[in-house]
Amino acid sequence: MAKDADSDPFSAKLRVPEALTFDDVLLRPMESRVEPDDADVATRVSRNVTLNIPVLSAAMDTVTEAEMAIGMARNGGLGVLHRNMTVEETTAQVEAVKRADELFIRREDVVTASPTQTVREVDELMERAGVSGAPVVDDDDTVLGIISGTDIRPFLEVGESDQVREAMTDEVITATTDVTAREALELMYDHKIERVPIVDDDEHLVGLVTMQGILQRREHEEAARDDEGRLRVGVAVGPFEDERAVAADEAGADVLFIDCAHAHNMNVLDSARAIKEEVDADVVVGNIGTREAAEACVDFADGVKVGIGPGSICTTRVVTGAGMPQITAVSEVADVAAPEGVPVIADGGIRYSGDAIKAIAAGADVVMLGSYFAGTDEAPGRVITMNGKKYKQYRGMGSVGAMRSGGGDRYLKDADEGEEFVPEGVEAATPYKGTLASELHQLVGGMKSGMGYVGAESIPGFKQRARFVRVSAAGQTEGHPHDVMITDEAPNYSPDQ
Ligand code: 5GP
Repeated sequence: MAKDADSDPFSAKLRVPEALTFDDVLLRPMESRVEPDDADVATRVSRNVTLNIPVLSAAMDTVTEAEMAIGMARNGGLGVLHRNMTVEETTAQVEAVKRADELFIRREDVVTASPTQTVREVDELMERAGVSGAPVVDDDDTVLGIISGTDIRPFLEVGESDQVREAMTDEVITATTDVTAREALELMYDHKIERVPIVDDDEHLVGLVTMQGILQRREHEEAARDDEGRLRVGVAVGPFEDERAVAADEAGADVLFIDCAHAHNMNVLDSARAIKEEVDADVVVGNIGTREAAEACVDFADGVKVGIGPGSICTTRVVTGAGMPQITAVSEVADVAAPEGVPVIADGGIRYSGDAIKAIAAGADVVMLGSYFAGTDEAPGRVITMNGKKYKQYRGMGSVGAMRSGGGDRYLKDADEGEEFVPEGVEAATPYKGTLASELHQLVGGMKSGMGYVGAESIPGFKQRARFVRVSAAGQTEGHPHDVMITDEAPNYSPDQ
């Protein structure tokens, strides 16, 4: 007699839903009047934080420290600082990002001269500090004058041991802290000067505005900035790290990312909820990969981050047997989060710009990438050469090396003294790629072209309009260059990515 499949527990277990990832789908081309250059990629990363490009750099110790975060924000995205560092280091890095594009340099960072130093001493001091001029202040910080390379030059010939007070310009033009960039530029223009000391009511020095600083700020019109015009920055905090969360929040972090490999652990969610109560910054909860996990956190999360095992350096799926292919994971989570107004971040597994825009089509508002950026100049670590090719180090935060330096609790486990870790990631090298700006140009340019194929002008419009087709194995092969030998490397394609 034939077995009744419904009453058979073994075959029932095997009637499983299919889950898809990037290579399984393509965007269906649709009628369009949208030129890629006209596509607007502004988006939200969390309930209260908007970005000008839908891109985050991963919270990994070979990807995002202050330099990467500054570069990401200047280009309109967001860097998420990793947490394999002390709380004090986190605070210092948040402050460094917040300060990077400030209109004026704060007092503690201004190079100053004293009126009694010799001209030679100040010349050497300015050369060491890489500045071309310095306010001259007395012992209680009252501004007496300003000295520049132009003032010093004649003295170096004839009177290098003369005092600064002889060489400085003492009719100094100052401004107060409420000066705007436009007013500062007008002052410089009217008086043919390049720097204006900022003073308090008693003429004490509190900062310095430079022409170079203002022009640099102007270069980054698309930067992601907070209400005070400072660059935005994200910070990863461990699921139980209240101290880091509060410190980063107080230092000015815009978004805190609860950094956990499995946030649908109820202890993690309880702790994330408590952290959310304690801070002003938005709190993104992650990582999750299912509808049920989204349902468990959308009531309090300001954003949800999706990715259980898609990362390039990740071994979670092979080590634990658990995971969710990323396109299905993103769309399940988005089904729950989008109606609640909670942005979705697709984290991991993105190799090409096409993967990034597919993640958005599946329902993400923003994508997060690690390996894509690890080879850039802005990522921590130095360039190494192997067999004549240049590389940078890239390692999983669940790799033995990263866990040894403090990241174990992302995986909800720690090794006792002498015990071996059970890693969920590997340590690797990634090809050196040059500047972050050129990588972002390719990534965002490709995403905009995808929007053009679908005929959508904005990220929300694209999410609504985009449709997928399922791709066969033969279709996947057809989609890559085939039957040719590539002779020149394209800036946005490598067969071994
Ligand atoms: P990628 O862009 O390189 O494909 O993926 C980066 C993402 O992988 C990170 O943002 C993070 O979510 C995840 N990740 C980082 N390190 C590890 C690891 O060691 N194991 C696992 N499972 N995921 C990791």
